[in-house]
Amino acid sequence: MNQEIVEKINALLPQTQCTRCGFQGCEPYAKALANNEVDINQCPPGGDKTIHALAHLLDKTIKPLNPKFGEYQLPHVAVIIEKDCIGCAKCLVVCPVDAILGASKMMHTVIADECTGCELCISPCPVDCIVMEVTEKKYKPSLAKQRYEAKQQRLISLKEEQQARTKKKKAALMAMMKARATAKF
Ligand code: SF4
Ligand code: SF4
Ligand code: SF4
Repeated sequence: MNQEIVEKINALLPQTQCTRCGFQGCEPYAKALANNEVDINQCPPGGDKTIHALAHLLDKTIKPLNPKFGEYQLPHVAVIIEKDCIGCAKCLVVCPVDAILGASKMMHTVIADECTGCELCISPCPVDCIVMEVTEKKYKPSLAKQRYEAKQQRLISLKEEQQARTKKKKAALMAMMKARATAKF
């Protein structure tokens, strides 16, 4: 696959990582487009603007947004009804751009400037205290991409730390068992 074309396509996508296109984020959709496996009209947050840009880049015919993937909406952000929040942190885990602040059993809040409006935090909330509100703020895909990549990197580092800790524990256990076995003889 030509990575250069994937990056060019990805740069035209809104970077909300909302998964409405049927892929796990903007880059996987960009890869499928680069492979000519999918249509250019599957991204509701991008709407007509993204379809036009993709058609121009990929030399495709302009077509309307496919309603199967959702409708275009005005830019919106999540708002937590703080009095109802039980601090379960489920929203915080799924937010692709770390736009939610809070700690376990504490009230959570959304940093409006960093929220992409992806809506991924809505369904995990057990008390339905997250609502979406239309915003006039100027949405910045480049900032969203940066924050998404930073979160991915943080998750990779966390996983590596956990693996290293598990490996260390196993080695210590093996050493202890070996020492006990040697002491018996
Ligand atoms: S913003 Fe568009 S391309 Fe990115 S995940 Fe959402 S629907 Fe897919
Ligand atoms: S706060 Fe909710 S809507 Fe906003 S980016 Fe995070 S998961 Fe998406
Ligand atoms: S998922 Fe809902 S209840 Fe849980 S911390 Fe987030 S906003 Fe609060």
